[in-house]
Amino acid sequence: MIKTQAEAWAPLKNELEVWSQKGLEAQLWLRDDDAIEVTPALEQLDDLCSQFNVPYTIATIPSLTTQGLAQWAASHTLGHYAVHGFSHTNHAPSDEKKCELGLHRGEQKILDELAEGFEILTNIFGAQMAPLLVPPWNRIDTALVPHLSALGFKGLSTYGWPKPSEPHDLAIINTHIDIIDWKGSRGGLPRKVLIDNLVEALQTARALNPTQPPAIGVLSHHLVHDELAWNFLEELMSFSAKNNQIAWKSAKQIAQL
Ligand SMILES: [Zn+2]
Repeated sequence: MIKTQAEAWAPLKNELEVWSQKGLEAQLWLRDDDAIEVTPALEQLDDLCSQFNVPYTIATIPSLTTQGLAQWAASHTLGHYAVHGFSHTNHAPSDEKKCELGLHRGEQKILDELAEGFEILTNIFGAQMAPLLVPPWNRIDTALVPHLSALGFKGLSTYGWPKPSEPHDLAIINTHIDIIDWKGSRGGLPRKVLIDNLVEALQTARALNPTQPPAIGVLSHHLVHDELAWNFLEELMSFSAKNNQIAWKSAKQIAQL
Protein backbone atom coordinates (compact mmCIF):
# COMPACT_ATOMS: atom_id res chain seq x y z
CA MET A 1 0.00 0.00 0.00
CA ILE A 2 1.39 3.37 -1.00
CA LYS A 3 1.29 5.87 1.81
CA THR A 4 0.28 9.47 1.38
CA GLN A 5 2.90 12.03 2.24
CA ALA A 6 1.15 12.86 5.53
CA GLU A 7 1.02 9.17 6.52
CA ALA A 8 4.67 8.67 5.66
CA TRP A 9 5.76 11.59 7.85
CA ALA A 10 3.48 10.69 10.78
CA PRO A 11 6.27 9.01 12.82
CA LEU A 12 8.25 12.25 12.77
CA LYS A 13 5.16 14.24 13.67
CA ASN A 14 4.55 11.91 16.63
CA GLU A 15 8.12 12.25 17.87
CA LEU A 16 7.92 16.02 17.59
CA GLU A 17 4.77 15.93 19.68
CA VAL A 18 6.96 14.68 22.52
CA TRP A 19 9.38 17.56 21.93
CA SER A 20 6.47 19.97 22.02
CA GLN A 21 5.19 18.58 25.32
CA LYS A 22 8.64 18.97 26.83
CA GLY A 23 9.04 22.50 25.47
CA LEU A 24 11.99 21.46 23.28
CA GLU A 25 13.02 22.70 19.84
CA ALA A 26 14.59 20.19 17.43
CA GLN A 27 17.51 21.85 15.70
CA LEU A 28 18.56 20.52 12.33
CA TRP A 29 21.47 21.54 10.15
CA LEU A 30 22.26 20.64 6.56
CA ARG A 31 25.75 19.63 5.50
CA ASP A 32 26.32 18.98 1.84
CA ASP A 33 29.68 17.60 0.68
CA ASP A 34 32.10 17.78 -2.23
CA ALA A 35 31.60 21.14 -3.89
CA ILE A 36 34.36 22.58 -6.05
CA GLU A 37 32.44 24.41 -8.75
CA VAL A 38 28.99 25.68 -9.70
CA THR A 39 26.90 22.93 -11.27
CA PRO A 40 23.18 22.52 -12.02
CA ALA A 41 22.98 20.30 -8.93
CA LEU A 42 24.46 23.01 -6.73
CA GLU A 43 22.01 25.53 -8.21
CA GLN A 44 19.19 23.08 -7.45
CA LEU A 45 20.35 22.72 -3.84
CA ASP A 46 20.45 26.47 -3.36
CA ASP A 47 17.05 26.92 -5.04
CA LEU A 48 15.51 24.33 -2.73
CA CYS A 49 17.09 25.78 0.41
CA SER A 50 16.11 29.31 -0.64
CA GLN A 51 12.50 28.23 -1.10
CA PHE A 52 12.36 27.16 2.56
CA ASN A 53 14.99 29.55 3.92
CA VAL A 54 17.18 26.66 5.10
CA PRO A 55 20.86 27.55 5.62
CA TYR A 56 23.40 25.04 4.35
CA THR A 57 27.07 24.33 4.90
CA ILE A 58 29.03 22.93 2.01
CA ALA A 59 32.15 20.87 2.61
CA THR A 60 34.42 22.27 -0.07
CA ILE A 61 37.64 20.72 -1.36
CA PRO A 62 40.25 23.50 -1.03
CA SER A 63 42.82 22.50 -3.66
CA LEU A 64 40.13 22.10 -6.34
CA THR A 65 37.83 25.03 -5.52
CA THR A 66 37.23 27.35 -8.44
CA GLN A 67 36.98 31.11 -8.56
CA GLY A 68 33.58 30.61 -10.20
CA LEU A 69 32.25 29.02 -7.02
CA ALA A 70 33.56 31.96 -5.02
CA GLN A 71 31.75 34.46 -7.23
CA TRP A 72 28.54 32.44 -7.15
CA ALA A 73 28.70 32.06 -3.35
CA ALA A 74 28.84 35.80 -2.83
CA SER A 75 25.33 36.18 -4.27
CA HIS A 76 23.89 32.98 -2.70
CA THR A 77 24.08 33.89 0.92
CA LEU A 78 22.39 30.92 2.61
CA GLY A 79 25.59 28.94 2.13
CA HIS A 80 28.66 28.63 4.28
CA TYR A 81 31.80 26.78 3.23
CA ALA A 82 33.73 24.31 5.37
CA VAL A 83 37.16 22.77 4.76
CA HIS A 84 36.78 19.30 3.23
CA GLY A 85 40.30 17.94 3.73
CA PHE A 86 42.73 19.30 1.16
CA SER A 87 42.40 17.44 -2.14
CA HIS A 88 40.03 14.59 -1.16
CA THR A 89 42.74 12.07 -1.98
CA ASN A 90 42.82 8.62 -0.46
CA HIS A 91 46.19 7.84 1.15
CA ALA A 92 45.18 4.65 2.92
CA PRO A 93 46.40 1.30 1.57
CA SER A 94 43.89 -0.69 -0.46
CA ASP A 95 43.02 -3.02 2.43
CA GLU A 96 41.93 -0.09 4.64
CA LYS A 97 38.94 2.23 4.43
CA LYS A 98 39.50 5.34 2.33
CA CYS A 99 41.13 8.16 4.27
CA GLU A 100 42.90 11.42 3.50
CA LEU A 101 43.50 12.44 7.11
CA GLY A 102 45.11 9.28 8.49
CA LEU A 103 48.71 9.13 9.63
CA HIS A 104 49.91 7.33 6.50
CA ARG A 105 51.99 10.32 5.39
CA GLY A 106 53.10 11.62 8.78
CA GLU A 107 51.38 14.16 10.96
CA GLN A 108 53.17 17.33 9.85
CA LYS A 109 52.45 16.86 6.17
CA ILE A 110 48.73 16.60 6.86
CA LEU A 111 48.65 19.56 9.23
CA ASP A 112 50.51 21.68 6.65
CA GLU A 113 47.92 20.78 4.01
CA LEU A 114 45.03 21.54 6.36
CA ALA A 115 46.56 24.92 7.21
CA GLU A 116 46.85 25.67 3.50
CA GLY A 117 43.29 24.51 2.86
CA PHE A 118 42.00 26.72 5.67
CA GLU A 119 43.82 29.71 4.17
CA ILE A 120 42.61 29.03 0.62
CA LEU A 121 38.94 28.91 1.64
CA THR A 122 39.25 31.90 3.98
CA ASN A 123 40.68 33.96 1.12
CA ILE A 124 38.01 32.77 -1.30
CA PHE A 125 34.89 32.88 0.86
CA GLY A 126 35.61 35.54 3.48
CA ALA A 127 32.71 35.81 5.92
CA GLN A 128 30.98 32.80 4.32
CA MET A 129 33.84 30.53 5.39
CA ALA A 130 32.97 28.28 8.36
CA PRO A 131 36.08 27.42 10.39
CA LEU A 132 34.92 23.82 10.40
CA LEU A 133 36.89 20.77 9.26
CA VAL A 134 34.90 18.09 7.47
CA PRO A 135 37.27 15.16 6.93
CA PRO A 136 36.78 13.36 3.59
CA TRP A 137 34.98 10.06 4.14
CA ASN A 138 34.26 11.42 7.66
CA ARG A 139 37.57 9.97 8.86
CA ILE A 140 40.42 11.62 10.74
CA ASP A 141 43.08 10.10 12.96
CA THR A 142 42.30 11.18 16.53
CA ALA A 143 45.96 12.14 17.05
CA LEU A 144 45.47 15.06 14.65
CA VAL A 145 42.44 16.55 16.38
CA PRO A 146 44.22 18.34 19.26
CA HIS A 147 46.33 20.25 16.68
CA LEU A 148 43.44 21.64 14.65
CA SER A 149 42.61 24.70 16.74
CA ALA A 150 46.16 26.03 16.27
CA LEU A 151 45.44 26.03 12.52
CA GLY A 152 42.33 28.18 13.01
CA PHE A 153 39.65 25.50 13.11
CA LYS A 154 36.91 25.97 15.68
CA GLY A 155 34.82 22.93 14.83
CA LEU A 156 34.99 19.38 13.50
CA SER A 157 32.23 17.54 11.69
CA THR A 158 32.16 13.81 10.96
CA TYR A 159 29.33 11.28 11.01
CA GLY A 160 27.50 9.71 13.94
CA TRP A 161 27.44 10.46 17.64
CA PRO A 162 30.87 11.52 18.95
CA LYS A 163 32.99 8.90 20.66
CA PRO A 164 35.26 9.81 23.54
CA SER A 165 38.53 11.10 22.12
CA GLU A 166 41.66 12.92 23.16
CA PRO A 167 41.06 16.31 24.77
CA HIS A 168 40.64 19.20 22.35
CA ASP A 169 38.86 22.53 22.25
CA LEU A 170 36.81 22.10 19.09
CA ALA A 171 33.05 22.18 18.79
CA ILE A 172 31.89 18.79 17.51
CA ILE A 173 29.02 19.23 15.12
CA ASN A 174 28.36 15.93 13.43
CA THR A 175 25.89 14.64 10.89
CA HIS A 176 23.54 11.77 11.74
CA ILE A 177 21.32 11.17 8.72
CA ASP A 178 23.01 10.39 5.40
CA ILE A 179 20.38 10.53 2.67
CA ILE A 180 22.46 8.55 0.15
CA ASP A 181 22.46 4.75 -0.17
CA TRP A 182 26.24 4.41 -0.68
CA LYS A 183 26.27 0.63 -0.39
CA GLY A 184 23.33 0.09 -2.74
CA SER A 185 21.88 2.36 -5.41
CA ARG A 186 24.27 5.28 -4.73
CA GLY A 187 21.15 7.42 -5.04
CA GLY A 188 18.71 8.47 -2.32
CA LEU A 189 17.68 6.07 0.44
CA PRO A 190 13.95 5.28 0.64
CA ARG A 191 11.89 7.90 2.45
CA LYS A 192 10.75 5.46 5.15
CA VAL A 193 14.32 4.53 6.06
CA LEU A 194 15.31 8.18 6.38
CA ILE A 195 12.26 9.16 8.43
CA ASP A 196 12.92 6.22 10.77
CA ASN A 197 16.58 7.28 11.04
CA LEU A 198 15.57 10.83 11.80
CA VAL A 199 13.13 9.77 14.52
CA GLU A 200 15.81 7.56 16.07
CA ALA A 201 18.34 10.42 15.96
CA LEU A 202 15.87 12.75 17.66
CA GLN A 203 15.26 10.17 20.37
CA THR A 204 19.01 9.73 20.87
CA ALA A 205 19.45 13.51 21.08
CA ARG A 206 16.76 13.69 23.78
CA ALA A 207 18.38 10.86 25.70
CA LEU A 208 21.82 12.50 25.53
CA ASN A 209 20.58 15.82 26.82
CA PRO A 210 16.94 16.01 27.96
CA THR A 211 16.92 19.79 28.40
CA GLN A 212 19.08 20.88 25.44
CA PRO A 213 19.28 18.05 22.92
CA PRO A 214 22.17 18.36 20.44
CA ALA A 215 21.41 19.38 16.87
CA ILE A 216 20.85 16.69 14.26
CA GLY A 217 22.93 16.92 11.10
CA VAL A 218 21.45 15.91 7.75
CA LEU A 219 24.09 14.96 5.20
CA SER A 220 23.58 15.32 1.46
CA HIS A 221 25.84 15.11 -1.61
CA HIS A 222 24.28 17.31 -4.30
CA LEU A 223 26.39 15.83 -7.12
CA VAL A 224 24.88 12.34 -6.77
CA HIS A 225 21.26 13.20 -5.93
CA ASP A 226 18.62 11.33 -7.85
CA GLU A 227 14.90 12.11 -7.72
CA LEU A 228 14.49 10.16 -4.49
CA ALA A 229 17.17 12.24 -2.74
CA TRP A 230 15.82 15.58 -3.97
CA ASN A 231 12.26 14.57 -3.06
CA PHE A 232 13.27 13.61 0.46
CA LEU A 233 15.01 16.93 1.07
CA GLU A 234 12.07 18.85 -0.33
CA GLU A 235 9.53 16.92 1.75
CA LEU A 236 11.64 17.33 4.89
CA MET A 237 11.95 21.07 4.38
CA SER A 238 8.27 21.37 3.55
CA PHE A 239 7.36 19.36 6.66
CA SER A 240 9.67 21.54 8.77
CA ALA A 241 8.09 24.72 7.45
CA LYS A 242 4.76 23.56 8.87
CA ASN A 243 6.08 22.31 12.21
CA ASN A 244 7.20 24.81 14.81
CA GLN A 245 9.25 22.23 16.72
CA ILE A 246 11.88 22.09 13.96
CA ALA A 247 14.37 24.90 13.42
CA TRP A 248 16.98 24.74 10.68
CA LYS A 249 20.20 26.44 11.74
CA SER A 250 23.53 26.99 10.11
CA ALA A 251 26.60 25.15 11.37
CA LYS A 252 27.96 28.52 12.47
CA GLN A 253 24.86 29.17 14.60
CA ILE A 254 24.85 25.74 16.17
CA ALA A 255 28.54 25.55 17.02
CA GLN A 256 28.90 29.31 17.56
CA LEU A 257 31.77 29.34 15.09
ZN1 LIG B 1 33.70 14.11 0.40
